[in-house]
Amino acid sequence: METKVTLKKHHPCGSKEFNLIRLGPEVVLRCSGCGAVVRMERKRFEKAVVRKDSAVSIQNSE
Ligand SMILES: [Zn+2]
Repeated sequence: METKVTLKKHHPCGSKEFNLIRLGPEVVLRCSGCGAVVRMERKRFEKAVVRKDSAVSIQNSE
């Protein structure tokens, strides 16, 4: 099951909603607006995330 997250910065397509695919040193997200896969550093992701809709913990899933 994918985790939905909202980021402060929107994707070029205009969507701020992303599905969290992989959470590691590098975070992989899929834009729910256009389906593009986005990769970013974990630190950047943690700063950019506004809200996560699932109970999955972002802090403790190394
Ligand atoms: Zn997009």
